[in-house]
Amino acid sequence: MASSDDEAFVFMDESGEPAGHEHAQAQVWRVLLVDDEPDVHAATRLALKGMDIEGRAIEFSHAYSAAQAIELLSQHDDFAVALVDVVMGSNDEGLQLVRRIREDLGNPVIRIILRTGQPGYAPEIDTIRLYDLNDYKTKSELTQVRLFTSLTMAIRSYAQIRQLESGRRGLEQVLSATTELGKLVGLKTFVSGIVTQLCAILNVGAECLVCAAMREPGAPSYILAAAGQYDNWVGMALQDVPDERVKRRLQHVLDARRHCFEDGVALFFAGRGEQVLAAFVDMPGPLPEIERRLLELFCGNIAIAFENLQLYLDINDLAYQDVLVRLPNRNAMVAAIDAHEPGMETVALVDLDNFSEINSILDDSYGDAVLLAAARKLRLAFPADTMVARLGGDLFGLYGPCDQVTSQHIAQVFAEPFEMAGGEPLRLSATAGLVRLRDDGLPGVAVLKNAGAALKQAKRFQRGKSMMFEAAQADAARDRIQMLNRLRASFSAEHLFLHYQPFVHLKDGRVMGAECLLRWKTPEGQFIPPDQFIPLAEQSGLMIPIGEWVFRTALKWRRSLVGLVGDDFRVAVNVSHVQFAEPDFVRRLLGILGETGIPGEQVEIELTESVAIGNIDLLALRLDELRARGVRVAMDDFGTGYSSLSVIQRLNLDRLKIDRSFISGPRSGDDHFGIARTVIALARHLQVATIAEGIETSEQRMALQASGCEEGQGYLFSRPLDEAAFRQWLMDRRAAAS
Ligand code: C2E
Ligand code: MG
Ligand code: MG
Repeated sequence: MASSDDEAFVFMDESGEPAGHEHAQAQVWRVLLVDDEPDVHAATRLALKGMDIEGRAIEFSHAYSAAQAIELLSQHDDFAVALVDVVMGSNDEGLQLVRRIREDLGNPVIRIILRTGQPGYAPEIDTIRLYDLNDYKTKSELTQVRLFTSLTMAIRSYAQIRQLESGRRGLEQVLSATTELGKLVGLKTFVSGIVTQLCAILNVGAECLVCAAMREPGAPSYILAAAGQYDNWVGMALQDVPDERVKRRLQHVLDARRHCFEDGVALFFAGRGEQVLAAFVDMPGPLPEIERRLLELFCGNIAIAFENLQLYLDINDLAYQDVLVRLPNRNAMVAAIDAHEPGMETVALVDLDNFSEINSILDDSYGDAVLLAAARKLRLAFPADTMVARLGGDLFGLYGPCDQVTSQHIAQVFAEPFEMAGGEPLRLSATAGLVRLRDDGLPGVAVLKNAGAALKQAKRFQRGKSMMFEAAQADAARDRIQMLNRLRASFSAEHLFLHYQPFVHLKDGRVMGAECLLRWKTPEGQFIPPDQFIPLAEQSGLMIPIGEWVFRTALKWRRSLVGLVGDDFRVAVNVSHVQFAEPDFVRRLLGILGETGIPGEQVEIELTESVAIGNIDLLALRLDELRARGVRVAMDDFGTGYSSLSVIQRLNLDRLKIDRSFISGPRSGDDHFGIARTVIALARHLQVATIAEGIETSEQRMALQASGCEEGQGYLFSRPLDEAAFRQWLMDRRAAAS
């Protein structure tokens, strides 16, 4: 393992033995004879000469004192049995030795048979139990056969303990290996981790070849991790691995999809679908059963972790990569902008023109092919340090240095036709919105929003071109959103209200009705003119509930005037064109009429000329439904918009409301008043009534009256008033008349 981030997974070699030692040396039973009489050593060797136990020979080591025994035992920890004389230099030297083996050396594994020449020195039963002695015999008792039997039993129990021991150690290792591997998120780190853990579990060092190969669907297998001197194999295709044997073993396991324990250890790890792993450890001898089972356990655990890892990687891909065109997606772009890398100064949104038509006329797969071609071309057109992303649909994003991400560069990409896989080259155009990043560390989401605003502008004014987003635009966009949020809050808090502005009969000054005008006073006490907030409400859909509220409030107000005004007093309500677009608009208005009990004849709605841009036939139908209930319809701001004479006739309008700009606005010179006069004449001809708004002086009033205009509204009569002021105005006026 060369890389430093894998260091955490290197295990301590618990045995302290040199790697591979255990397997190479385990072919004999090592027995330690401890006795101060050399004859006893010779006799014992003779008695056991040529015998083997469980298929292995016995190899003796000789110690003539407890001290010598301790020395040998601390050098080797693979003694299976010690035959210990009780009485050596002192009467209990043998017993002391046993204590030191168990307590000081901490060796619980070695089996101990105590021998004594003098039966009187027999240890207590407690001692036997305390120090885990296997046997206690007088030397005379130990005939050849009994010595052999006793030794065999001791060796068997040693082997058992040893197996349990290594099983426990291996299990611990497998468990912690799996836990450690589960924490690794990158595929390469994960597989390197497997290699490290295999070294540890099999107790081999990196000089025994350990490597792992990976096979992905449709791709050749390659070496993903290797240990020690084989580290330079990493990244190599399996077929190029210079060691024929290793190559064959790995290949075999990948094909056979199972472990293979002959000629080294070759392991198989199933992943999700076609993605599989194989690992190879070059072991000198055959693998003991216990280790084989441990490995199987390890592989089973690893397969689960491997699958989880692949899932994780897939999810990660999905989160940051566009599946269709294999470019980074919106998330990735936002994260990149958030990182504020120096030198990355411009963000562009590139929207393919007419893509939805392409998609709806031709089939989806053609649409996909167009997106793929656009993705490929954009990616190739910009250097690697510019990020090219697909943000969704036919919208692509660029993020990079300001000399790369430019309108000209984007235009160049689309100047040439697009090569379509297996089809005619296609001409595509695109519209782009660009933002130059400022030093204010604006988050990625906000930057994209600004770029989106620039794109929107560009689409409105110069489709097929690019537009740079200016800071002022950004501020305006932000202000608009803030204002909309405040408007929404004010509406739910019932902080919107109406003002009422009367209109009168020009000839006799009779009050004919009043127009309801929406007012918004912010919590800070600021009045915001309807010209500013109504377009916002229209864009956001908030106009629908607000419009309904205006209508209901206006009608309730009309009801409150009963007794104060005559039956012919009309309440005029402005209705936005977006309200007309609602399918149940008429039904709802009629519902409110019924609810408040106001006769339709007392209600007039004012439309602006922009409603006439939509579907005229549908609009006419809706207006007829209202008119059938007596509601009148006036065309507001007449003269400023687009309505033609045919529209006026088609819509069966009751009244034209001449825009105030012809009466008192800056355009109201003689010429403009001329227009007003023409409109009035025209209306008479069409038998449509007229009302003039914005009358500020009595001259204006007189001129209008002389031209045949019936009604008028304006500061000359009254400014828009709140409910109480309007009542007062009505009463003052009545008092003045009488
Ligand atoms: P509008 O329907 O043409 O309303 C008349 C506007 O002229 C009102 O402005 C009124 O205050 C102003 N005005 C009245 N007399 C005079 C005058 O003598 N001189 C001058 N210079 N101005 C005069 P306001 O209240 O600011 O309303 C502006 C526009 O907002 C309205 O124009 C209307 O289009 C819209 N609006 C107001 N309330 C509503 C509403 O409830 N719904 C909808 N959809 N639009 C509304
Ligand atoms: Mg109006
Ligand atoms: Mg108007």
